[in-house]
Amino acid sequence: MDEEANPFESLQEQIDDAAAYLDVDEDVLGRLKHPQRVLETNLSVELDDGSLGRFRAFRSQFNGDRGPYKGGIRYHPNVSRDEVMALSGWMVYKTAIVGIPYGGGKGGIVIDPAQYSEAELERITRAFATELRPLIGEDRDVPAPDVNTGQREMNWLKDTYETLENTTAPGVVTGKAIESGGSEGRVEATGRSTMLTAREAFSYLGRDISDATVAVQGYGNAGWIAANLLEQQGATIVSVSDSSGAIYTESGLDTQAVRDHKDETGSVSDFSGADEELSGEDLLTLDVDLLVPAALENAIDKELAREVAADVIVEAANGPLTPDADDVLAEREVDVFPDILANAGGVTVSYFEWVQNRQRFYWDEDRVNDELEEVIVTAFEDLIEAYEDNDVPNFRTAAYVVAIDRVVRAFEEGGTFP
Ligand code: GLU
Repeated sequence: MDEEANPFESLQEQIDDAAAYLDVDEDVLGRLKHPQRVLETNLSVELDDGSLGRFRAFRSQFNGDRGPYKGGIRYHPNVSRDEVMALSGWMVYKTAIVGIPYGGGKGGIVIDPAQYSEAELERITRAFATELRPLIGEDRDVPAPDVNTGQREMNWLKDTYETLENTTAPGVVTGKAIESGGSEGRVEATGRSTMLTAREAFSYLGRDISDATVAVQGYGNAGWIAANLLEQQGATIVSVSDSSGAIYTESGLDTQAVRDHKDETGSVSDFSGADEELSGEDLLTLDVDLLVPAALENAIDKELAREVAADVIVEAANGPLTPDADDVLAEREVDVFPDILANAGGVTVSYFEWVQNRQRFYWDEDRVNDELEEVIVTAFEDLIEAYEDNDVPNFRTAAYVVAIDRVVRAFEEGGTFP
């Protein structure tokens, strides 16, 4: 893992790589590579022992040319301004490639949530919501879950916003629990888009996902659902990992049983159905048909990329490959299907949640999943068309060609003010 690669610089490089295939004015290109605004705030919150906790927090609103800023909020000790800016930029191109009417944003608090009680996390979340209030809104900026946040945090955010605004506005945040206005299928949506992308990718490459062996790095919401849905497609999930290490079973892991084990013990390690325990890094170089990085940024750097033995990578995490790793993998003819498509199910079903909130009319899970499948398959086809029409080195650049073109057209149609 490359601790040094700056994700914001990676984003800018990815934009430059794709812009070379488009006729984009230099000044407009500069605009595409920088956030519109970034809030940096210090939250002061009373902790359970009576002391005052202070937490740095950010919200980056990268680009709103195609609609309200949209993107998650993560709680992690490594959150930084550059990381949040990068993640918010990736959201711009993610919403563009799947064609949903949003811009991109992202937020984060520098915190290890495991060190705090639920009551403390509630106060910290409500303090952040209070800081965010002037910036967010159903038509302005719509947060959602990300690493280490979920329905609970979104419910608090919504409640704080609605209380302070003296209104009901469930669409101010997505990823809520059903009773708070959430959507069926939202929790599974990120992993579902990873499965759908992998299925489409294998079929495009003339292969069948049901014959594939798979390794999944990360067993949080995205990784475990992707593994589970790929298993349901008939794939053999030979290895999965989390921060404690990896487990391997040649004949395939029972992904639900691994999830139950992790829920009970806190990690995938020591799972009784595993043949072997591996290191997290070993998993990334396993000789499998499909590798799914579903943890954090920079999981695969250029050194590791030289040792990757998988034929296909489908990115469930945001930014798991450094740009140097991308170059090495392209040279080695490993097919990489990018994050902005392969994990876009989360924000797509967030969009469905927001639509349902605005209409006060709720869909059943089959409808959500059917509409999601249509969005991902259409985006996949758009990506392939760009890949075949341009002499691009990889599928990531093709995805950015489609996405950047959509953002630029929205900007140019709107023009500038003043
Ligand atoms: N945090 C997720 C992502 O990176 C979901 C964002 C959203 O639903 O707005 O795509």
